[in-house]
Amino acid sequence: SVFVNEFAPLTSPPDTMPKLRARLLANENPLGIAPSAKEALIKASEIGNRYAWMEFAQLKNLIAADEGVTARHIMMSPGSSDILMAAASHFAKGGGTILTSAMTYDDLLERAQRMGAKIVSIPMTKEYQYDLNAIKSKLTPEVKMVYLVNPNNPTGTVVPTADLEAFCKEVSPKVPVFVDEAYIDFYEPAARPKLGKLVAEGQNLILARTFSKIHGFAGLRLGYAIAQPEMLKLLKPYTNGEFAVSITTLMAGIASYQDKAWQDHCRAENAKARDFTTKALTALGYEVIPSAANFILFPIRMKPKTFEGQMFANGIGIQTRDFSGQPYCRVSVGTMDEMAMFMDSFKKVVG
Ligand code: PLP
Repeated sequence: SVFVNEFAPLTSPPDTMPKLRARLLANENPLGIAPSAKEALIKASEIGNRYAWMEFAQLKNLIAADEGVTARHIMMSPGSSDILMAAASHFAKGGGTILTSAMTYDDLLERAQRMGAKIVSIPMTKEYQYDLNAIKSKLTPEVKMVYLVNPNNPTGTVVPTADLEAFCKEVSPKVPVFVDEAYIDFYEPAARPKLGKLVAEGQNLILARTFSKIHGFAGLRLGYAIAQPEMLKLLKPYTNGEFAVSITTLMAGIASYQDKAWQDHCRAENAKARDFTTKALTALGYEVIPSAANFILFPIRMKPKTFEGQMFANGIGIQTRDFSGQPYCRVSVGTMDEMAMFMDSFKKVVG
């Protein structure tokens, strides 16, 4: 398969997984969950015997108020992967085409391909940006959905907000546009595209959001989709329903969502450690792709598996990619201490 499974390094048998000093391979939050979310988790455990009911409405209303949509435009899920998989299954039905960019997140595409869809991936520009004009030029009647990730994984690059909004307005009347915003919380709030507003205006967009990244809920599992209610109705049969989210996770999510100070703290710490690493790698002569997310991608000069193995042997978990024969390292942004460890090991490994 040409696809890389994001989670492969985490699911290898425990006896083949070396003990890591720094786990920088799945874009998790190194600071953990918010203290307010921890408190809510403990409190929620007391009502673990009850089905969540009002709690879904409470979180949806909070999100709806921020996004300018109604609660009917929101579907909760245990992580955003479920939304991605549901869209893949739905739009692959009957063997259509999914149009996307090269060098992006593969999970939805891999599922869609397995379900019978054709994937058309448009090369990125030299600056590792989506080539939106080239993507538009490939819109044919066979295209069932366009899939974009913003900020993109694994490049960390962002589409300029005005360009993304214009693209969505132009394309979504023809074909649904899926925008995976897993990393949007790392982007300065004022600079973010207001795609919820476009959904409120009736545009055919599917936005996927996750609590796995800035909220640190990768293990707790919480995410959601924002789309037209009719679209959510089409996707729902491919999910296990919203009750797949536990009441503990949900209540912790409500606390974390409202804890803007914690999110600001995590965003600032991430930017600090990301800048430190970018500067350190640049000083060694590496070309680092400017990242707006909690990971960075840069070309390396070693065979990917050799590099990855040697970093792992040093206790540093990272991922590698190979794009057109060029190997890259993708390192998640950890704490400053972890990034210093990463740099020490990197220098040793590359000589
Ligand atoms: N989308 C992107 C771009 C991701 O990088 C990830 C995870 O790394 C996901 C979606 C899925 O994450 P989750 O299911 O934890 O929300």
